[in-house]
Parts: sequence; structure tokens; C-alpha cells
Amino acid sequence: MTADPILDPLNAAQRAAVTAPLAPALVLAGAGSGKTRVLTHRIAWLIGTHQVSPQSILAVTFTNKAAGEMRTRVERLLGIAPGVLWIGTFHGIAHRLLRRHWREAGLIESFQIIDAEDQQRLIKKLLKAEQLDETRWVPREIQWFINTNKDAGHRPQGLKSGNDPTRAQMIRLYGLYEAACARSGVVDFAELLLRSFELWRDQPAVLQHYRQRFRHVLVDEFQDTNSIQYAWLKLLVGSQSCPFVVGDDDQSVYGWRGARVENLQQFGRDFPAAQLFRLEQNYRSTGAILAAANGLIANNAGRLGKTLWTSGAQGEPIRLYAAFNERDEAEFVCQRIREHVTRGGVHRDIAVLYRSNAQSRVFEEIFLATRVPYRVYGGLRFFERAEIKDALAYLRLLVNRSDDASFERVVNLPTRGIGAKSLETVRAAARVTGSSLWEATQACLGEALGARASTAMRGFLELIERLTAEIHGLDLHEQVDRMLAATGLIEFHQRDKAERGEARAENLEELVSAARGFGAERSDTDLPPLEAFLAHVTLESGDGQADAWEDSVQMMTLHTAKGLEFPIVFLCGMEDGLFPHQRSIGTLEGLEEERRLCYVGMTRAMRQLYLTYAEQRRLHGIDNFSQPSRFIKETPEELIEEIRPRIQVSRPVAAGRFAEDGGVHGAVSYRRTGYPGRSSHAEPAAPGMRLGARVRHGKFGEGVILNLEGSGPQARVQVNFERQGTKWLVMQYANLEPL
Ligand code: ATP
Ligand code: MG
Repeated sequence: MTADPILDPLNAAQRAAVTAPLAPALVLAGAGSGKTRVLTHRIAWLIGTHQVSPQSILAVTFTNKAAGEMRTRVERLLGIAPGVLWIGTFHGIAHRLLRRHWREAGLIESFQIIDAEDQQRLIKKLLKAEQLDETRWVPREIQWFINTNKDAGHRPQGLKSGNDPTRAQMIRLYGLYEAACARSGVVDFAELLLRSFELWRDQPAVLQHYRQRFRHVLVDEFQDTNSIQYAWLKLLVGSQSCPFVVGDDDQSVYGWRGARVENLQQFGRDFPAAQLFRLEQNYRSTGAILAAANGLIANNAGRLGKTLWTSGAQGEPIRLYAAFNERDEAEFVCQRIREHVTRGGVHRDIAVLYRSNAQSRVFEEIFLATRVPYRVYGGLRFFERAEIKDALAYLRLLVNRSDDASFERVVNLPTRGIGAKSLETVRAAARVTGSSLWEATQACLGEALGARASTAMRGFLELIERLTAEIHGLDLHEQVDRMLAATGLIEFHQRDKAERGEARAENLEELVSAARGFGAERSDTDLPPLEAFLAHVTLESGDGQADAWEDSVQMMTLHTAKGLEFPIVFLCGMEDGLFPHQRSIGTLEGLEEERRLCYVGMTRAMRQLYLTYAEQRRLHGIDNFSQPSRFIKETPEELIEEIRPRIQVSRPVAAGRFAEDGGVHGAVSYRRTGYPGRSSHAEPAAPGMRLGARVRHGKFGEGVILNLEGSGPQARVQVNFERQGTKWLVMQYANLEPL
């Protein structure tokens, strides 16, 4: 028998699934059992063994990163590049469709995608125009109303108010929001899905084309599809294609965003002939990790029920660390990471997972101070930073003048003397004529706008027109560079002498690098480079910085970690109220979703799993004293080894509070002494030098002590200087003066 690269690396159950007849199929299996592997090998098998044309395959994954990996795997299995294979996320594929069929979809050719923040700005603007009070009509709630309705496939015309005036108002705002989006030529995330669903529903010729083409539709993480995604799939699949979906009901974690785990059962009803495959062997985790995860998830009722076992070793116990506060927690994690690296390990083997994005900050601070390289996936990502969004707004305006949100963002940035009153005049004119702000400004020049405002506005319009002409035909990174130079954005931030200004200027320069690194091949569409780049950053932000070439600790929320695996995992912030999250504790449904999220987190670990919690935590500026997460208690005790430092509390020291921006929120900071392998922070290294003390440095000015390490001449001190930011200094040379 000759070696078969596609089937040999599979166990019998996996092989049965991969080689299933060309008919609907559902693979229902637990974490790490090879679902994603099966999906990938199925694609390779269809092409390589069944001579299916790559053209006729559509694969949907959960992240762009996963899509990239799947493509590479298929290429490796087949030894050739399956060129035209469509692999992407629901949003990515919907985007691709709308770009191809913008006319049929009722969009403008240069439509731009807006993210959640832009969406909220737009809603706020609407409320203002309608003179509605934001405290009564909370933008976030309206946003939620709009998005959940889109996810459920509802347009405002189809919604009933049921004589509820509040609801009637929400529906009206939804309608106004739609109109505003259409005017600006922008499309939000939920719209991408709904619009492409409607495209197929209302344009039989288009649907027919794709039904003919995509004979094989494969979906990973099927348990997290929402109503509109499932409806979209069903439309496409029709009665002739072969949907092949894989999922795990225990890993459904997007119920709060409209995902319907019921789709797993619905699939069985919609495709009664579908074959069901189960995979039971876990290849990812040690016996201990798997037993812990199984023990935890057993607390959920109403599961579809699966068994999961491993032939691997029991491995090390789950380690539990009780930290005093969030800094202590981060220091512990940092210490363990450094030990791992000292022993020859690499940073990228380690994931720090948390429930809320805000938790990353303290880790980042400590990693920065101790030079541990790290990457934050999701959360405040590069492309979401304000200065980057400003720059992107300029770029958007260059390709689409009707993009009102971008217009508003940069019309007076850097300041060019365009006041709120002039802007209001323009907005009013735009409302009356139903035109874009750009057009309205042109009409107002010299008329509704006074002489000075007209000059300023004209300057802005001319800048955009001139830039558009100038960058034509340049390489993408040159276009970005030219825009930064012409708009003066970099100098604008450089003039801000605080460290923040410097960092922002650096980020803008980084944008040029990002543009240089953006290969046209990373784009799904035939768009011109600048537009492809803009679509890419909105749709795929976060993936960009996650490039694997750099060895760094991987930090992300539990939601983002779905589908991934790491040799060592730290599950941090295991406290009731944080995880399970406060707003989910109240309902059984909510709590079970949190428990599944914890199951997802635990099953990311291959060799070692750490659980950590803080007895006291400052989050969003408030100190919380919380109980360890109930999920710790639900994990079989015999699998857990507690890391017990000698409890010997040094006196609590009040640390000063710093500006939000400075990064460090002062907290009452307790120190525990005697933790093995860690220097003690308890005893003052010099008179007056204790945590939280104010000191003055000859060059850096005044600051507050954040950290002390070591003793004697080697003692190091970390100070947060008001002007210069946080620095580590050697006590001996620092000549700090206590204040
Ligand atoms: P999740 O539910 O977390 O998405 P999954 O079911 O998709 O997990 P995979 O990611 O496909 O699981 O596989 C988990 C790990 O086990 C991967 O490292 C994969 O390469 C490995 N694996 C899967 N099947 C086998 C096999 N038959 N032999 C060896 N390793 C395997
Ligand atoms: Mg998977």
C-alpha cells in the first residue's frame, strides 16, 4: 500500500467522516478531536481523490487566521496551490460577494465597511440631528437593537411596534440609520451578512450562479452560526449541494451575539438524510487537562452528550494560583513565562487568556517592563487606535467622498479652524438636500458659510482633491506616506510633547509599514490596492498583528481563542463576577454559556494549564474583592495543585493614582513575601523607598514607585514618571529623592 498523505494521518472515525459520500454530513465532536483537521482533509480529499474542482468548494471558518491556516494545510496535503478555493469567514465571504455584485445588492461601487465604533458615531450623529437625548436613547442600545435585528434578518419595514412607543422610536431610528448608511456608502458588519443574504434571496440569477458553482459547502465551528448565517447557508445549499458542517455544542459561546446552537439540531431536521459522525479521541491535551474540562462541562444541563478520551499521558496537574491583586497575578504569570524561556522554551507556546479585554492592560505593563514580547489579539488593536483611525478616515475619504463618518472625523483634524457652527451649517444643509457632507460643503461655500469658514473648508476640500490626484498610481505604502505628509497628522501628534504623542506618531509611521507589508494576494477581491487595504483593515484588524514570525506570548480573550491551541495556557481572572461575568450570572442560560467559554479556555491547553485569580482586583477604576470563580470549584479537586505562597502580608501600601492615559491605575497594593523564585518586594530598599511613594529624579522629574526588586546596590526600582512614563532604574545610580 502506498502512503496516502490525506487519509493516513487520520483515525478510523475521522477517515469515515472525510470520505463520507457526497451528501449532507454533520460532524459533532468535542474539543481537540480533530474537527478542523477533518474539514481540511475533506477539502483535500474532494480535490485530490474525488477530482472535484477547487472552484466548486466554499469553506467557512471562524477567523481569517484559521482561513489562512486551512488554505496552507490544503496546499501542503495536495502539493499544489488550489488557487481559486474560496475559504474565509462569513463576513469575509459576504464582503467578497457584495464587491462582485454591488449593483445587484443596491450598493455603490466604492462602499466602505464601518466597524462598531464608527457605527456608534453614526448613531450619535443621528440622535443629535433628531434632537434626542442620549441618556434616554442610549446609542449602545440602539446599536444593539439594529444589529440583533439584522442578525435575525429583519429590516425596519418588517418590524412591528406593537403600540410600544419606545419600540416604535427604535424602529424609526433603525430606518434613519439605514438611510444614513446608504447616503454615506457605508456598510456595517451585520449589514454585510444581511445584504448578501438578500442578494441571493432577491436575485435568482445570482443565486443560481453560486448554487451551480459551490457544490461543496464546508463550515467549521457551526455551533456559533446565527440565524442570518444559517439562512444564508441554506439558500446557497438548496437541495443539490453537499453541506459538510462540523461543530461542538459545548463550545457555543456567541449566544449573546445571536448565535444559535439549535442550528446543530435544525441542520438534522433540514437535511434529514445528513449523516452524523462523532469523533471521540482528543489529540490535543493531556489526560489531566481533558479530565478537568470534562468535569467542568458536566455541570451544564441539556448537552447533546459526547465522550472524549485521550490515549496521551496524564501529564501535570492543573495549577491554581491565588494572587493578591491583578499585579501579583500578572507578575506570577510573567515569572512562569520567564522560567519557561530560561529552560529553552519559546514565548509563542504560551497563551494568556482572559474574559475581558480590559484585563490585558496590567499584563502588558508588566510584560513591557520585563521585556517579555507579547501580542494582543483583538481588543485595542493597532487598527482601532484613534490616530490610526484618523489616518484611515483620510484614506477612506480619498476613495469615497460620500463617507460622512470619515469626513466628520478629519475635517478639522489637524485643526484648521473649522468650528462646530460651520459644521452644523453643513450638516443641516446635507439633511435638507439629502446629500453627503462633502457635497453639502461645496454648496455652502461662500453662501451659508462665512468667508473665514469658507476658506478653511475650501482648503480641506482642495487638500483631498489634490491628494487624490497625487497618489494616483503610487505604490500603496507611498500613498499612505504621501497622505500622512500632506495632512500633517504626524507633526500634529509630534507637537504633543507627552509620551502619548510620540507613541501616536510612531503608530502612524507603523501604518506605512503595514501598508508595505500588505500584499495584494491577501485580498480576496480585485479592488485597487488602497481600497483592498481599507477593506482588509476593517474586516481583518487584529489578524494583522498576529503574524507568527515573531516569537511572542499570545494574549487574547477566551472568545478569540476558540479553535486555537497552545502548549501552555494561563486562564486568568478566575473570579466570580469577572468569569463567570457579572451580567451572565443571573440566568441559567448565561451561566451555562460562561461555563462553555471556560471549557473552551481549558481545552486550548496542550501540556500545561494554569488557573489564576486575584483576591482583590481593580477594574474600570473600582476595587473589587471577589470570590474565586465557581468554575474552579466545579473542576475536579484531585486534578488541581494549588501554588501556595507563604501567606505573609507586608503592610498594605497605598499607591498613587495616575492619569487614565498613563496606564497604571494605582491600587492598594499588598505584597506577599516568600514566593519561591521571586524576589521579595516587602522590605524597603532604601529609606522612603516603598511602593507608592512619591520621588523626584534629577532628569525625569516627579513620579511614583511602582515596583522594587532586589536589595543592596543591585536593587532596582520602577517609577512611573509623570512626564516620562514608566522606567526601571538602578537604585544606586538613580539618586531618587523622597518627597
Ligand atoms: P476545537 O474543538 O478546539 O476546534 P478540533 O476538534 O477542531 O478542536 P483540531 O484542531 O482539528 O481539533 O485537532 C486538535 C489537535 O489534534 C491538532 O493539533 C491536530 O493536529 C491533532 N490531531 C487531530 N487528529 C489527529 C490524529 N488523527 N493524529 C494526530 N493528531 C491529530
Ligand atoms: Mg477546530
